Amino acid sequence: MKIAGKNIIITGGARGMGKKFAVDFLSLGAKPYVLDVVQENLDALKADTGIPGKIVDVTDEAAVEAFFEEYTAANGPADILINNAGITADSLFIKKKDAEVTKFAFAKWDNVIKVNLTGTFLCGREAAYHMVKNDVKGVIINISSISRAGNVGQTNYSATKSAVVSMAITWSKELAKFGIRVGAIAPGYINTEMVAKIKPEMLEKIVANIPRGRLGEMEEISQAVQFIVTNDFFTGRCIEVDGGMRI
Ligand code: NDP
Repeated sequence: MKIAGKNIIITGGARGMGKKFAVDFLSLGAKPYVLDVVQENLDALKADTGIPGKIVDVTDEAAVEAFFEEYTAANGPADILINNAGITADSLFIKKKDAEVTKFAFAKWDNVIKVNLTGTFLCGREAAYHMVKNDVKGVIINISSISRAGNVGQTNYSATKSAVVSMAITWSKELAKFGIRVGAIAPGYINTEMVAKIKPEMLEKIVANIPRGRLGEMEEISQAVQFIVTNDFFTGRCIEVDGGMRI
């Protein structure tokens, strides 16, 4: 698929990697539109780049359905969806300090499941529904993570990032008959605010384990997104862009 002129929806696109994808798509002549949850970030994106967006919490089924209806009526169906919105809420499964044993908090589990997994399901479903209804041979990309392999302190995040790849594979098989392709990308540690939250001594240890010897750059993930969109033989796979690191 050619990028120029295409309608592209990016979840969690007001900042971080999603914003980079949107800005790069705009520079390639596409029409990106972002969904996010903080109005001032959407306003800043619009002011800086002209890219429009809307507050849509990807975990809210009614809001996601209403948005896709409204977007499609105004712009025509999306050609491309990037399921990028994601959060972390790390904790050990069971922690023991002296005599005290504590459990992984349910709220941390539930929040991450809702945004990363349910959000990806809902936006993927609505995008695919409108593509099929309007005979659009579109592309859906789920953003996974190197943590999908199972990472200490990330029971919730790892589970969701593995699941979004399984969903991409499932959708690629089910939607192939409509000409829709679905892929996933599992970035390693990328130079973003999410990674800046990691303690410096911990980050040093992480970087020491990356064969490329550095964090990835957002541009390098954006290149993988563009590869999936433009390569018409690509579907049902996950591209790992992680500097060779294995968790
Ligand atoms: P950011 O936290 O910078 O951006 C994520 C965006 O999603 C934020 O704008 C956030 O809003 C928004 N968001 C959160 N919850 C919702 C929601 N319910 N509905 C809509 N939008 C929401 O993340 P990154 O750019 O670092 O990461 C982007 C994706 O890449 C994520 O899926 C992440 O898991 C994945 N990833 C990131 C890696 C990294 O190194 N950074 C490595 C591997 C994967 P708010 O401003 O409130 O936070």
